[in-house]
Amino acid sequence: MKIALVTGASRGIGRATALLLAQQGYAVGVNYVNNETAAQSVIDEIHQAGGKAIALKADIADEAQVVAMFKRLGEELGPVTALVNNAGILFQQMTIENLSAERINKVLSTNVTGYFLCCREAVKIMSHRHGGKGGAIVNVSSAAARLGAPGEYVDYAASKGAVDTLTTGLALEVAAYGIRVNCVRPGLIYTEMHASGGEPGRVDRVKANLPMQRGGQPEEVAEAISWLLSDSASYVTGSFIELAGGK
Ligand code: NAD
Repeated sequence: MKIALVTGASRGIGRATALLLAQQGYAVGVNYVNNETAAQSVIDEIHQAGGKAIALKADIADEAQVVAMFKRLGEELGPVTALVNNAGILFQQMTIENLSAERINKVLSTNVTGYFLCCREAVKIMSHRHGGKGGAIVNVSSAAARLGAPGEYVDYAASKGAVDTLTTGLALEVAAYGIRVNCVRPGLIYTEMHASGGEPGRVDRVKANLPMQRGGQPEEVAEAISWLLSDSASYVTGSFIELAGGK
């Protein structure tokens, strides 16, 4: 049985990924932090299509909640075989002079510590070293990790740089234990994240500078994630797929 956990799956890229994985036969743990109604709508859609899914409330930055989430997933669906580390946050555009320690810590605790904690719990369950059957992890980073997001959100970009390095290191650390770890780096994707993170008109401005002249859809990112998780990618680990319209 293929069992996936997708963090931040009540909307955006996480939602599209949870729906696609369910279509592909995964039983899916739909993690959310506060929007229970939105998470439930993902579950309902999966159930209506004949799939299997449960909602899992947890703040990925909270160690006890992450541990409890993996435990519940194991009890209700079975041991995780695929983890999609997707939940992330982005705050208003700001230059470095105005970045508060509170904001920096919040970004790092979700986008970095949260990813580490979920990887740790997944590895404990998947690893051949602990009697597990193996598995695959996909981390959702960002083109910002390459570009740095100067004058906009260097805190967010740096957090995604850490996700990239986590992917590289962990892929090597667990390769011999049946676990593949890969990464997708989306560019401009049409989700609600931009409602909180940019000045009005930013999306159109960024879009105009992209070689493909358009942003991406969450479903286009979900396709790459599902491929990296699948047996079709059985010899792929430590890899990065850019989903950024050419930039
Ligand atoms: P989104 O804001 O729609 O979704 C993010 C989800 O993460 C939300 O459901 C949110 O509630 C959840 N979340 C936030 N903090 C959480 C926490 N502590 N615990 C559990 N869940 C939490 O945005 P999205 O665009 O779908 O983003 C998904 C991922 O893609 C993020 O990691 C983001 O950084 C990355 N990304 C997005 C874009 C883009 O243009 N939209 C580009 C590059 C990378």
